[in-house]
Amino acid sequence: MVIRKEQLLKDLNERKNPNSQKLSDHPLLIKPREPEQDFPVLSEVEVVRHYSRLARMNYSWDDGLYPLGSCTMKYNSLLNEKIAGMAEIANLHPSLPAEKVQGALEIVYETESMISRLLDIHGVTLQPAAGAHGELIGVYMISAYFAEKGEQRKKILIPDSAHGTNPASASMGGFDVQKIGSGADGLTDLADLRKHADKKTAALMLTNPNTLGVFETQIVEIKKILDEQGILLYMDGANLNAMVGKISFGAMGVDLTQLNLHKTFSTPHGGGGPGQGALGYSERMKPYLPEFQIRKNDKGVYEYYRPEKSIGRMKTWYGQFGNILRAWAYILSYGNQSGKIAETAVLNANYLRKKIEGLLEIASPNPSMHEAVFNHNALQQRGLSTLNLAKALLDCGFYAPTIYFPLSVPGAIMIEPTETETKAEMDLLASAIKEIFEQDADVTRHSPHYTSVQSIDETGAARNPVLTWRE
Ligand SMILES: *Cc1c(COP(=O)(O)O)cnc(C)c1O
Repeated sequence: MVIRKEQLLKDLNERKNPNSQKLSDHPLLIKPREPEQDFPVLSEVEVVRHYSRLARMNYSWDDGLYPLGSCTMKYNSLLNEKIAGMAEIANLHPSLPAEKVQGALEIVYETESMISRLLDIHGVTLQPAAGAHGELIGVYMISAYFAEKGEQRKKILIPDSAHGTNPASASMGGFDVQKIGSGADGLTDLADLRKHADKKTAALMLTNPNTLGVFETQIVEIKKILDEQGILLYMDGANLNAMVGKISFGAMGVDLTQLNLHKTFSTPHGGGGPGQGALGYSERMKPYLPEFQIRKNDKGVYEYYRPEKSIGRMKTWYGQFGNILRAWAYILSYGNQSGKIAETAVLNANYLRKKIEGLLEIASPNPSMHEAVFNHNALQQRGLSTLNLAKALLDCGFYAPTIYFPLSVPGAIMIEPTETETKAEMDLLASAIKEIFEQDADVTRHSPHYTSVQSIDETGAARNPVLTWRE
């Protein structure tokens, strides 16, 4: 079947409409574009085969493990996908008035309260579109908090083991960033923190577990230093995999914390679709929340409200509803066993670490949380680079780990198996790394050999993307 666009529009316009308005004049119809010159005309079977071929060139969760640390690619259970696809809820229009979508608002409200129970913090809002957006909302709230108190605090402290989005969000929010060092153990340097924590400081943005995959065990001392100067504690908990249901953000004295549903709560990541963030807050931060909060009134009816000292609107409506649905289903399917997510994620990361440690050198001696970070020393001794290892793993049928991040580790290789991996699959990854070390270094250096494309010009692809059929 050949579809010709002009013919299609002609057919549509000629179709008799009892209200006799020409279809292309209908106010809701997007005006047809001018006909493209040389627009390719393809048959259905050609299009289907083209996309099937492309799909086979791709790598996905359905093929194997994604050892991608920090970003976390986690398998999404089919159950959650099924729930998110239920037409009755998935097709609701966000502009429907609150009284018509009580069930949907209840799901958002319940997801917020379940996550706040998992974090053990005063409340959670699902307004952020993603992790970095959650940070920005948090930074604006910090600004509003001190403006209200009439205090001039322009500085935010950020350890060098923090995620790169932290300094970006702080400076977008109008703050100056002061870097804090780390000790040899990968933990925040307390002396350096003490030196910079003063009455001009608004907050500390602490990534925990930090980007070395290590838990900040000195949190009690850190909080004491902050409290003495009236400094807020912002904890970047984007990746909650090691801590779900295991830790109390309230007890750590956290004022704000953002996390990514697309890292921990089974919503798609890296598929080109939207992510979804969550922002946890302490009681004193609540009045500054962005607009479109949901509450349950005295009559048990869910309604939107604008908090009294709100920083304003940061996102339309209540967020990426499809992802909230997946997270809701994921949390409920674990019930009171959600601590098992963290236990298995940490066990898997440490198992894989032990299997690989004889080959690659670990970056921090402290036990790993959800991911393990290695440096490139052992590779360099063989005349190889981190990039060579990553490319060689593609030949072994794996996705590449996160590489050259964090910047504080030379040639970093960051591996996170997540809780969904089996021992057998992790053993396969470890033996692939061993084989890469044993094979001729020249073969590794010229990898990949078996992927659909080999040596690609990555800079060129990013700078000059070819996105249409035109050359
Ligand atoms: C992924 C990540 C972020 C950024 O989240 P996005 O959703 O990509 O904006 C921030 N902090 C940490 C620790 C992360 O792992």
